[in-house]
Order: sequence, then structure tokens, then C-alpha cells
Amino acid sequence: MSTQEIDPSGDAIITLRSSKAPFAVWEPRPAIKDLSADDPCGGSIEKTENKKMHEKELLLTTPEVDPDAGTVRFLVSSRHLTLASPMIKAMLSNSSGWSEAQKDGAGLYQIEAEGWDETAFTIVLDVLHCRYRKVPQTVELEMLAKIAVVVDYYQVHEAMVLASRTWLGSLKAAELQPTNLNRELCLWLTVASVFTEAEMFKSLTRVAMMQSWAGMKFPADLPIPSGVSSRIQTLRLYCVKLISRVLRGLSEDYVEGRRGCTFECTAMHLGVLTLKMGQLKIGNSIFMGLATLEELTNGLKEMKSPDWYDWRGNSHSCRAKTGSTASVANKVLDDLGYPVDGTLDTLATQLARSVTDMTGLELSDFVKARPGKETLLERLSRFDISGRPRMATMYDR
Ligand SMILES: [Zn+2]
Repeated sequence: MSTQEIDPSGDAIITLRSSKAPFAVWEPRPAIKDLSADDPCGGSIEKTENKKMHEKELLLTTPEVDPDAGTVRFLVSSRHLTLASPMIKAMLSNSSGWSEAQKDGAGLYQIEAEGWDETAFTIVLDVLHCRYRKVPQTVELEMLAKIAVVVDYYQVHEAMVLASRTWLGSLKAAELQPTNLNRELCLWLTVASVFTEAEMFKSLTRVAMMQSWAGMKFPADLPIPSGVSSRIQTLRLYCVKLISRVLRGLSEDYVEGRRGCTFECTAMHLGVLTLKMGQLKIGNSIFMGLATLEELTNGLKEMKSPDWYDWRGNSHSCRAKTGSTASVANKVLDDLGYPVDGTLDTLATQLARSVTDMTGLELSDFVKARPGKETLLERLSRFDISGRPRMATMYDR
């Protein structure tokens, strides 16, 4: 077993068993089999296709596992570590009850670590021991996310501030932030969460909100505040229900005579609405579970009011009747602050805009505990017995 001398006169040995598991495995959205209009069940998820796509995605998006990745030891200074990391300070204190708190016969602390990427772990140790010549000036996104995982676990945010700012600065200049919800976005979101990039966090969570589906999960090994995922799901569901409710409400308005001026007008408007609701699969629980807000709002923006001419040759531009308190659609649009008397296409556009105008999430809503304030007991509750992080993180409380 090799030993890296981070501090040649160190008084602690960290034994790292590197992770053999793939890092940040992303599960893409399940594929939907083409939903035909005459399918009484409204279609189904194509499992085989989905599996193939998933496997392909895994191959494309997860690095190869090195079967020879073994155990490596680091000779380090407990003084540097305890100064930078409240986690290690608590671990090595006599009252912790951990075996790590007692020096061995050779007068060394023995600290076990498991699951971290060896390079990322080494970079963090180099920064903590002020070995800046060893620290790379730039790192790829993948590596920065791996570093962020280590930083989050050992709570060494402050000691890593300068290095992380340098890396992030270069990375932001070199790479555009993702505009699609995928594994890359999850890595950026990890970096934004751990290194407190509030604006980046906001724009990334907005993309995630617009493109997520029911059951979307961030990779469990990334320290993205888990409250983020549930907040995104809640907002998504709210917006899906909102769209469904307004479209159904508009249909009812035409059927029950609250909108439409003549038989022809009502029939044509109702036809357009029925067509659009069919295209958006409103009411199909499978499809609605997988539909993204981006798809739904794009569909709404494409809605057209029927265009026809009356017997005098005048173009018929029908604005809906107003003032009906019984109309669900009126009430919802009114609550959102939109006029309720527009043409069908303007109502649809307003409804879409009420969703697309949403901003992303505020990082400050999730980062409640500052690094260093957590007690060891609280800390331990976040990790399982082998030291692997549980899904929840410190941001949840
Ligand atoms: Zn009309």
C-alpha cells in the first residue's frame, strides 16, 4: 500500500479506500411509447426502449470503473486537518468516542476514509496543508464536483474558498452552463451548492424545474440539498395542475355557454381546445407524470385561436365573455393577475407565461446550517455506518 507524504512530519495517517462505484449516476427520464389517440389506456412507458436508453446514457455519462483502484495512505498533520475541518476536529476529540480519537502505538492518529475519488481527496489535502504548488490551477467540472463532495463531507468550505473561486472562475469562462437537465447539470448544481454560487444555483434550478418529471432524482451521492428536489417536484406538480385546470375550465366555459358568441364560434373554440388538450395529453396520468413544464408551456404557446370569416366577410375575432364568477378558468387567471377576457391564444400564452416567468430557487432557502455549526451527533446522523453520505444533507434541517 502506497503512502503519500502530504506532511513528512505528520502525526496522522488517513487510509482511503477509493470508490469503485460509478460517480454521480444519472437516471434520465423514462421514454414514452408513442401515445396514439385511440389507445384507451392512453399509452404506456416503453420499458425495453427505456432500459436501452438508460444503459446507453450510463455508458455515455459515467466514467469507467478502475478495478485496480485500491487503498492509499496519506501522512498528514492532524493540526492542519482539525483547524480546517470541524468534522475531523470532532472526530479526533477525546470525547467523540471514535477509535480515530486515540493515537496508535507509533503515536499516529489513524483515520479511515472511504468512497472518495483519490485525486480529488489528494487535491483537498494539498490545499489544507498549503502545498499550493501541487494544486492544479484549473480542474474539469467532473473533478470539481468530486472535490465538492469531499469538501461537503469534511466541512472544509472556508479553507477551500480561494482555490474553489479560482477553479470556478476558469470553469465558468471555459464552459457554458447547461441548459438541459442532465448529469452535467447535476455536477454544476453540486458545485454551486457546495461553493455557494447563489446566482448559478438559481439559474440551474430553474432549468431543472422546467425540465423535470415526476420522480426525477438527482444522483444520491451528490451533496445537492435534497430539499431542492422536493421543492422542484412540488412546483412542477402545482404548474401541471394549474395548466390542466385552466384548460378544462375553458372547455367547460364553452360547453356551458359562458364563452362563445354563436354556435359556430363555440364549436370552433371548443374544437381548438379539445385538440390542444389531446395533444398535451391533459388527464393522461402517465404522460402528465413525465411531461415537463417546458413541453407543456411550449404547447400552450402554439395554441391558435380559430380564424374564420362570417357571412359578411368579416374576420371573426371573438373575445370571451367576462364577468362570470362561475368560471374556473376566469378565477385562476384572475388570481394570477392576468386579464380573463382575451382571445383563446392570448389566454393560453398568458397561462404559459405564468409558468415560464418563475425564477429558480434561492440557495439561501436551503443553506440553513453554516459549516462548522453542526455537532458531531448531527453530522453522524447524516452518514451511514460505513461513512457514506445518506441522501439528506446538512441543508435540510
Ligand atoms: Zn365568437
